[in-house]
Amino acid sequence: MAATIDLHCHSTISDGLYSPEELVAHAHKQGVKVLALTDHDDVAGLKAARAAAEPLGMTFINGAEISVTWKKWTLHIVGLRIDPDYAPLKEALDSVRQSRLERAKMMGDALEAVGIEGAFEGAQSIAGNSIITRSHFARFLVEAGHVRNVKAVFKKYLVKGKPGYVEQQWMNLEQAVSLIKASGGTAVIAHPGRYGLGMVNTHLLMHEFRKYGGEAIEVVTGSHTPPQYDQFAKIAHRFSLKSSLGSDFHGPGVSYMEMGCICDLPPDCVPVWQGWDEVQLN
Ligand code: AMP
Ligand code: MN
Ligand code: MN
Ligand code: MN
Repeated sequence: MAATIDLHCHSTISDGLYSPEELVAHAHKQGVKVLALTDHDDVAGLKAARAAAEPLGMTFINGAEISVTWKKWTLHIVGLRIDPDYAPLKEALDSVRQSRLERAKMMGDALEAVGIEGAFEGAQSIAGNSIITRSHFARFLVEAGHVRNVKAVFKKYLVKGKPGYVEQQWMNLEQAVSLIKASGGTAVIAHPGRYGLGMVNTHLLMHEFRKYGGEAIEVVTGSHTPPQYDQFAKIAHRFSLKSSLGSDFHGPGVSYMEMGCICDLPPDCVPVWQGWDEVQLN
């Protein structure tokens, strides 16, 4: 059965295609009743999304998806029920915004070196006031006719080892989890099956994440295959972590999963929302 809760999605505040208000309206149309907005490294959409969700009778949950460097990997840690006005969190995210801008300039230079002009300016104009991400570069490269679609752009230019990829030092895991917790939130490892960690590092990560106070992992996500739902349900159980669920929707045509189409958690999972008074499913 399709879940009526979705705890991971993006708006134009980061690299989604819908504004926070449009995203909420879309989620509502798709039958979502409990929604968290989790833009990359930014909380600027939460107030508008909440204001749009509440008159529709939806439960809205404040969220963010924080980029983290752990060993040689970039991981994403979702914070749920965070306080967007918590100053240390806001300051840390402001600094990520600044470093994203610097990375984007370097990406522009790197792409220029392989003959692609104006990528920084192009990506920035697509991003507007939003935080700038590789997705904005991908859209620019497609619009300028360099590559035929976003998926192909990543493969050709924007992943490790390709000409437009610039290594970035993100927040560390302990800092991200601590900020989420200190702001009243719950830390969740986003799409743990997507990083190519292998078993040993997956187990190390779970152990370390718990040690810092992390509480859950995404089990059902648009970034996992159905066999990975079971695989990560077992890992959650083994490490006494709760389970989360979210589409990771970015917009029509650019997401693995439409909102409202994602299936429920496997029956033996402890939902991350267990005990949250505001979440009344059924
Ligand atoms: P950034 O945080 O700036 O490194 O950008 C990462 C974002 O790019 C992710 O959140 C995804 O939305 C998008 N992304 C990463 N890899 C791919 C890919 N292979 N195909 C399409 N989008 C991708
Ligand atoms: Mn994204
Ligand atoms: Mn992610
Ligand atoms: Mn995401």
